[in-house]
Amino acid sequence: MSAYRLGLPSDFKRRLQASLPAYSGVPVSVGDPVPRNRQERRCAAYEADHYEVRAFYTTVSRESLDMLEEALKAVPGVYATTQVRRASDRVTAPNVFTNPDWPPPLGTGRRDRNDLRPQVLALIRDEEQPAERAEEAPNPSIFRCAECGDGARLRGWVHVSAHGPVGADGVIGHYEYESEDAAEIIEESITCEIHGEGAIEKLAGGQYTSAMVNGKFVAQWRQLTGAALDYRVHNQYQQPKPPPEKGDLR
Ligand SMILES: [Zn+2]
Repeated sequence: MSAYRLGLPSDFKRRLQASLPAYSGVPVSVGDPVPRNRQERRCAAYEADHYEVRAFYTTVSRESLDMLEEALKAVPGVYATTQVRRASDRVTAPNVFTNPDWPPPLGTGRRDRNDLRPQVLALIRDEEQPAERAEEAPNPSIFRCAECGDGARLRGWVHVSAHGPVGADGVIGHYEYESEDAAEIIEESITCEIHGEGAIEKLAGGQYTSAMVNGKFVAQWRQLTGAALDYRVHNQYQQPKPPPEKGDLR
């Protein structure tokens, strides 16, 4: 029963096909996953211990199979892979299985072993047994809309500095961003796609807070002086005044 989270073979095939890379523009072909029990016998999907998956390109180049095997190894839950290759360049040459630990019933011992086309075979199962899986709460979203109760539909703005090549027509052809990764979100710009700007909160100090000082959320436990509260921003278009700085009093 440990293949149950992979979904039905047809669903899993579709997802796998979409996730594997194309080779020189040629999309990958994925065969129907075969549900198998621990003895490597074909069985019903709901009894499967794992699925056997086959994938190939129309080209049979060694390079394409190497790339495909690496891509399959990276799929979560894949625990064994092998390439099926001709032993020599002759089309009638017998097949070899590149992984010596590949289960014989699915490799050297299978009746159709020499009828298989060059391809990659993979075995996949759920990464954890259901009993061993801890009940994990999803990570809370740093920002959330209090009306929605989550942060799934938020939009925010950042300042970016962009540049790019100037074309003959005098405009920039495409933009290259600077410090895109480091760009800090403008907290007061965050809005909910449904509820707008009114109910946005930030997780700070272990609690969600809606209090803002100078356009940034501040933890509720922080002492808000009367002066600081004046600068609490309710409107993203309202520019907050800078607070009086200590030591700057004249
Ligand atoms: Zn909302």
